[in-house]
Amino acid sequence: MPIRLLSSEVASQIAAGEVIERPASVVKELLENSLDARARMVTITIEEAGKKLIEVADDGFGIPSDELELAVSRHATSKLVRSDDLFSISTLGFRGEALASIGSVSRMTITSRVENEMEGGRLRVDGGKVGKPTKVGTTVGTTVRVEDLFYNVPARLKFLKTDVTERRAIDSLVTRYALAYPDRRFKLSEGKNITLQTSGDGDRRSILAALYGVDVAKQMLEIMSEEEGYRLTGLISPTSLTRSNRKEITFFINGRWVHDASLSMALLQAYHTLLMVGRYPLTALFLEMNPEEVDVNVHPAKAEVRFRNQDKVFSFVQRSVRKALLAYSPIPNVAPSLWGSARSVQAEPRRNAVTDWAIAHDEQLTATSDQSSVDSEQSPVASLQPSITNSQLQTTSPTVAIPLLRLIGQIGATYLVAEGPDGLYLIDQHAAHERVLFEKLMAQHAMKNMPSQSLLTPAVVTLPPYSSQLLVNQLPILQRFGFDVEEFGPNTFQVRAMPALFMGSDPAVALRALVEDFEEDESPFQNEIEAKLAARVCKRMAVKAGQALSNEEQRALLIDLEACDSPRTCPHGRPTMIHLSVDMLERQFGRRGAR
Ligand code: ADP
Ligand code: MG
Repeated sequence: MPIRLLSSEVASQIAAGEVIERPASVVKELLENSLDARARMVTITIEEAGKKLIEVADDGFGIPSDELELAVSRHATSKLVRSDDLFSISTLGFRGEALASIGSVSRMTITSRVENEMEGGRLRVDGGKVGKPTKVGTTVGTTVRVEDLFYNVPARLKFLKTDVTERRAIDSLVTRYALAYPDRRFKLSEGKNITLQTSGDGDRRSILAALYGVDVAKQMLEIMSEEEGYRLTGLISPTSLTRSNRKEITFFINGRWVHDASLSMALLQAYHTLLMVGRYPLTALFLEMNPEEVDVNVHPAKAEVRFRNQDKVFSFVQRSVRKALLAYSPIPNVAPSLWGSARSVQAEPRRNAVTDWAIAHDEQLTATSDQSSVDSEQSPVASLQPSITNSQLQTTSPTVAIPLLRLIGQIGATYLVAEGPDGLYLIDQHAAHERVLFEKLMAQHAMKNMPSQSLLTPAVVTLPPYSSQLLVNQLPILQRFGFDVEEFGPNTFQVRAMPALFMGSDPAVALRALVEDFEEDESPFQNEIEAKLAARVCKRMAVKAGQALSNEEQRALLIDLEACDSPRTCPHGRPTMIHLSVDMLERQFGRRGAR
């Protein structure tokens, strides 16, 4: 075939493909335009997860009517003049491509007005065909309406994920921008449903609550670090709060959401040894520096950057995060106090201790959900307040061994009580058992000696289509863990053997545990998957809270736990035990040093 120039229509669809991949990319570009226009309030409305409609309305400075046509043409921008400017960009946009791209793959209408004009203008672009601008009465600001995204690019439509997934991508994008710009107001809604609404009061923690829930938001640690022209602010999770993937690691650089492997690496290094293998922190971090220090023109969707001084940025981030983590959770002094590491979650140690204690109570022991009693003087919980500090009321560090424990008994069919050389230990039987099963399973797996036991009657398990596909992909791994599973029909599997470790438990439960909440793109390193699968199945197979254990079972669990390499946390990073030291008990009873 001879060489030909592409028609402008095809060329612009190709260009659009780089920037506009899915509804969330449209939202991103429009949001960025609104923020660049110094909007105080941005309202995003979607229909059918953005496939039918995305509308972004702002109260920014607007586009003059006579510039509307220019705004939608490729390489037209008000943010850049000379090529030098490229190296000191302080706006989010600069390529002049977004509106042109969006207009070429949808039906787009822009309505806008600037302050010094009486009337606003409106322009429609339909699959790249630009209409005639008209005059309209409207308030100052810009509204971009994008209908029927990809209606003229059916191949693109096919690549879109389910509404749930596309909607989640939009939610998470808008929430992250809201976090990055806490002084602006954001509102996201679909139909009558308001997904997110922020007040613009500058409080990041309340926005975080919308993203992760109040509990998580409360625990996040604040970071504020400044050094030689670099500034890092935001929130990071304490070591007790983790996820099984890196998706909740968020970085903004100069107000721009970026994915940067080296920044993630710096962050993970800061957490190194404080987290279990295969666990990742949650972060919303905002790095600021002179725009000349960072090249933002290296990725079509501006999602990646390059630093002028990569090493410096790396070490700044790593040190800042590490410092914050250590400030909140002092490193264990291994001996003589065996329980040195704290899981501290908030800034003020005093309130913190009470909260921890209250949590321990609330979770399973008692039903004291009345928050006021925690604060009142009479409450048994509050009475602990004056002298419990984090170094005394400890949860645990992942790797330090535990001393020999003498079993006292079980309380609430949930915790084991034991005495050690230095005080009292409360052990969460479920978490402890998870840890024990996990280490046994991983050890047998490592020795390539996985005792497997055949089932007398094979179990037949039916899974949802989505999970079955994931399971089919993982069958070889399951084999290595001692599961003999075979496809038995559409979405149906037969379990013929399972790890001897789990014998006596329901094979269907084990199989479901293996595939539950498997993420679509969960395919990191092989051994990471394996550890994850193992952790998941152990969680399901472990004794539950509320399950009465015989004396023998309790004792066996303690002995097994003592033998673990990392007895102090379950495979998901939660503590297996709480220690009340002799020292602390003495203070509590006014025997020593208490005021
Ligand atoms: P870029 O943002 O890279 O400049 P876009 O295609 O996104 O390119 O937008 C083109 C131009 O249209 C911008 O440079 C800006 O002048 C104008 N514009 C777009 N959206 C808005 C908005 N919401 N408010 C004010 N001006 C806007
Ligand atoms: Mg733009």
